[in-house]
Amino acid sequence: MISLKSPITYVNGVTANRASLLLQEFGIRTCADLLHFFPFRYIDKTQFYKINQLQNSNADVQIVGKISNVKTVQQKRGSRLVATFTDETGTIELVWFKGVKWINDTLKPNVPYVVYGKLNIFNNTFSMPHPEMELLSEYKKKVQTAMQPVYPSTELLGKKNISNKVIRTLLQNLFIELDGNIHESLSGNFISQYGLMSKKEALLNIHFPKSQENLAKAQYRLKFEELFFIQLQLIRKKIIRKSKLKGYVFENIGDHFNTFYNNYLPFDLTNAQKRVLKEIRKDVATGIHMNRLLQGDVGSGKTIVALLTMLIAIDNGFQASLMAPTEILATQHFNALEELLKDAPINIALLTGSVKTKKRREIHQQLEDGTLHILIGTHALLEDKVIFKNLGIAIIDEQHRFGVAQRSKMWKKNELPPHVLVMTATPIPRTLAMSVYGDLDISVIDELPPGRKEVKTVHRFDSNRLAVFKFLKDEIAKGRQVYVVYPLIQESEAMDYKDLMDGYESISRDFPTPQYQISIVHGKMKPEDKEYEMQRFVKGETQIMVATTVIEVGVNVPNASVMVIESSERFGLSQLHQLRGRVGRGADQSYCVLLSDVKISDDAKTRLKTMVETSDGFKIAEVDLKLRGPGNIMGTQQSGVLNLKIADIVKDTSILVSARNAAIDILSDDANLSKPENNITLHTFTQLQKKSGLWANIS
Ligand code: ADP
Ligand code: MG
Repeated sequence: MISLKSPITYVNGVTANRASLLLQEFGIRTCADLLHFFPFRYIDKTQFYKINQLQNSNADVQIVGKISNVKTVQQKRGSRLVATFTDETGTIELVWFKGVKWINDTLKPNVPYVVYGKLNIFNNTFSMPHPEMELLSEYKKKVQTAMQPVYPSTELLGKKNISNKVIRTLLQNLFIELDGNIHESLSGNFISQYGLMSKKEALLNIHFPKSQENLAKAQYRLKFEELFFIQLQLIRKKIIRKSKLKGYVFENIGDHFNTFYNNYLPFDLTNAQKRVLKEIRKDVATGIHMNRLLQGDVGSGKTIVALLTMLIAIDNGFQASLMAPTEILATQHFNALEELLKDAPINIALLTGSVKTKKRREIHQQLEDGTLHILIGTHALLEDKVIFKNLGIAIIDEQHRFGVAQRSKMWKKNELPPHVLVMTATPIPRTLAMSVYGDLDISVIDELPPGRKEVKTVHRFDSNRLAVFKFLKDEIAKGRQVYVVYPLIQESEAMDYKDLMDGYESISRDFPTPQYQISIVHGKMKPEDKEYEMQRFVKGETQIMVATTVIEVGVNVPNASVMVIESSERFGLSQLHQLRGRVGRGADQSYCVLLSDVKISDDAKTRLKTMVETSDGFKIAEVDLKLRGPGNIMGTQQSGVLNLKIADIVKDTSILVSARNAAIDILSDDANLSKPENNITLHTFTQLQKKSGLWANIS
């Protein structure tokens, strides 16, 4: 008898030839694979629309009406046939670009037709290009199957005549031959608890839905299941990590922390900062290894949280490190923290690529004998010679810049790995965080320090540059400073540097010395030159900073209140958001001007519009996710997790949340799924874990 494990050649209609094509194009090998080859849309021929009910929803619709008028319109290449199609409520146009003559001959005016197709809207009129059509009298003679599945296809399958209809027939045959021999994959009580359709019904209805309602239930069941097993995996991993991986216990909140907190904290913490600090304190007090991601928009005040966390470590006799992605940022952190700690008996040092050998040796020495408490730096921290006496916490700023840089000798002398706190200013949408970082602990600073004014953001075309320059002069006259940023994309680096230099020249012309002083910073400069130019700007000696995106991360110049972004259509949303975060740090009203070409893509339009409309980093991240898709946002490494068959983490957020809660519930009741009532669920889970693929990619 045929089973789900049988090769598809067992299915009626699958020749060896077809089997090898299906394998090649879609990886379909077994009956189970074929059963899980899902339609991506359905033709719903159960519903008729009236013309006045039509909506611009991009869905296929079916209408009954008559053709009243047909005309041929000449256009640049060939001609187009336009028929006016009317029912008792209104009129649409049917349009053909191909086969114009033949169609013109066959159309019958004033007899009822059923037309079916996708709608376009143009000048407030709906039109349907190349509709499927049939005379109503013919249509009535046929039995209408409710909804027809449409399967993914490829050019090769098309060429080899494996049409949608063929796939449909193969699936029909498969269902007949399986004769109901489809096993349930979730336990019975679970299914009833979450009101799910049975697996058998769901698979049948995903291919051959009896109604819209059944289809919705089938989709829900299959998406829920898919997301549930991923969450089960992630949450179990987290539980195991927490039960196995020991960490240092920081049980004291001691003098360093208390003195600083009570006497030197320059401001009151926001509630969000307090909450996050509590979460961290709770983690490090338990003896479990902390691995926490701290998300907070630019300017939300992550640095002070990092400092307070480091003080806790020092109070407990440990050392701390803070690693930043660029030399500029590391230096800035060092300066800020050194200033904050100037009255504290704490030894703090900066280590970057440009630290001289003598100083470097001194740092190495102090690290090993334990006299250095805090080390701040760049990748230089990961070099083999950097060995701490007892590193208690490693903090990493702006994680997306590092990738896999965490293998290091830093804690070679440690008994246990240091706690890890990763800070990122790139908000990760909740859904994505849940799916990809589901096993990490996440803290969020979702509140800006008080008194921040929203950065006023506008989009201007290049042709308005003079007006923009005039505005810059007005702001500079008020004593403010300005950033002008140019894109730097690796693939077109040479061109981009040319743009930067051209821009610099043109700004130098419009903003002449001695009235105006201009800094320029870009990636091809020597670190010391960069630093020199940065410092001139920081000290207010220059009013304008012309730069590539090297300033993207972290620079803090509160007096800079205008951010001009050149060719802003070429930047991604998160980059634009990061850049805008450089201004709005002081008390003055700040501005962001997005300059672009007039002709830009629809996606670019959406990006710029989003920037103008909101400054909420999480909203911006959601739009970014919708535009670019999850794989691109997280990088290829993690995209395996998101290699979903039916669920869509952008659209199925609420199912994801339910599935996650279901996974938490079941594991908190039965951590190993060993209770008899979870038997079936456990079996499926084990099978899924055996298959590598998806699961291997979750790290
Ligand atoms: P980010 O999260 O981008 O790293 P920072 O830590 O650099 O943000 O903080 C941005 C600015 O806000 C700094 O000048 C910092 O001193 C200030 N700041 C942080 N927290 C507060 C607060 N609770 N109240 C007032 N100002 C704050
Ligand atoms: Mg920061």
